[in-house]
Amino acid sequence: MYFIANWKMFGGLNSLNSLNKVVNFFKGFKEKKTTKIIYCPPSTLILPMSKKLKSSGIDVGAQNCHQNENYGAFTGSINSKMLKNVGAKYVIIGHSENRSSGETNEIINIKIRSALKSGLKVIFCIGETLKEKRKKNTKQILNIQIKKGLDKIKNKKNIIIAYEPVWAIGSGIIPKSNELFKIIEFIKKKNKVFKILYGGSVNSKNIRDLKSISIIDGFLIGGSSQDSKKFIDIIKKTYN
Ligand code: PEP
Repeated sequence: MYFIANWKMFGGLNSLNSLNKVVNFFKGFKEKKTTKIIYCPPSTLILPMSKKLKSSGIDVGAQNCHQNENYGAFTGSINSKMLKNVGAKYVIIGHSENRSSGETNEIINIKIRSALKSGLKVIFCIGETLKEKRKKNTKQILNIQIKKGLDKIKNKKNIIIAYEPVWAIGSGIIPKSNELFKIIEFIKKKNKVFKILYGGSVNSKNIRDLKSISIIDGFLIGGSSQDSKKFIDIIKKTYN
């Protein structure tokens, strides 16, 4: 099972102390072999966090990258090669918070290809808005996002899909279990090779319901991942 922490634009150097709890927990965790923990902090923390988590078995990822594979005159941007250089092994691409500020499926595709070329694994986010859900367009939207996002990518073994309904992110609302099962099943049937995660308001209470959806391969966790105790609780409750 994957547990990916998306810290979004939160955290400074002092936040790294909170990882001690998670490192200690993971050291003695009986399900360690089948558990993958990945922290995606803001870019400013990738290097110090990678150093801190070295030999802990916990990986570090980035939250986004620029689409240009090479260095260039792109003020304020960071490309996948630079992320890899400071210790990132993964990168989240296509998060709805970036899609909503203009990131298109075409740009996402270029970003994914550049990240794979740089040797990063990709956490590819897809999901419908509330409006699209109400119009019963969810499957159609997911199909377009997957088709365009993964265009011209033959080898998909380093891609994990995170299904994150936009209306579930940060809202405290999660999809009904039967609906979520059907959507994950739909994505899996179309794309046999993928690991599929769920993301959107996962917390230490609703994890009991979410974990019962056996075809989910893990969770992308925003708000609840910033508190180590809550994050550990989610991991523990997933297994019992
Ligand atoms: C996210 O932003 O990827 C996310 C899942 O956020 P939250 O858990 O806070 O809904």
